[in-house]
Order: sequence, then C-alpha cells, then structure tokens
Amino acid sequence: MGWQLGKAGNKATFVDIGSLISAVIYFIVFMAVVYFVIVLPYKHIQARRGVKVFGAEPKTKACEECLSDIPEAAQKCKYCASEQPRSREKTTEFAVAATTSQSGTARARDAR
Ligand SMILES: [Zn+2]
Repeated sequence: MGWQLGKAGNKATFVDIGSLISAVIYFIVFMAVVYFVIVLPYKHIQARRGVKVFGAEPKTKACEECLSDIPEAAQKCKYCASEQPRSREKTTEFAVAATTSQSGTARARDAR
C-alpha cells in the first residue's frame, strides 16, 4: 500500500503508507505497555508511601525581597530569610495602612 512517486517499479521512490501505519500502531502499543507496566505501578507504590508523583506543581509566589519563587504558604523566604506576609488579605491591609499614615505602618508592623 502506498504511492509511487518516480518511475513504476523503482523501490527508492515508493512511499509505503502501510509501514507508517504499522509503526504508529507499534508506538501506541509500546507506550500503553510502558504506561501500564511501569508508570501505574510506580504511582500506586508512591501513593502508598504518601508521595504524590506526576501531579500538578505546588503553587508558588515571588518573594518580595529577592524575587525568588517560594511556596505560597511560606511565612519565611528560604533564600533570603525575609518574613513573608501571611495571606493576601493582610497584604492588602498592610498596603492600605502604609499609604494612609505613618501610624498605620507601625500598627501593621505590630500586628505581625
Ligand atoms: Zn527572598
């Protein structure tokens, strides 16, 4: 099965679609075997050990001091050891207090 591009009977210019289709089928079957024989048991074993593999990355935020990516729930930066705002609500509260007055900044600092 295929197309003859050049002279009839020339095997060098024959596009064999059948071998392409069989290669695609072989690839799909091979990947299914790899998935069910290696990946699924590995995920199952790691889940029993309490480790999540092949999942979504944990959410991160940028440190305000050094701009490194740190976990979103972090209260201290692991790179520069600066204190992190605990949540977004307190961040906005701090920003509003800082813009309104000097005593607002002091209050926000005491709240930490
Ligand atoms: Zn930092």
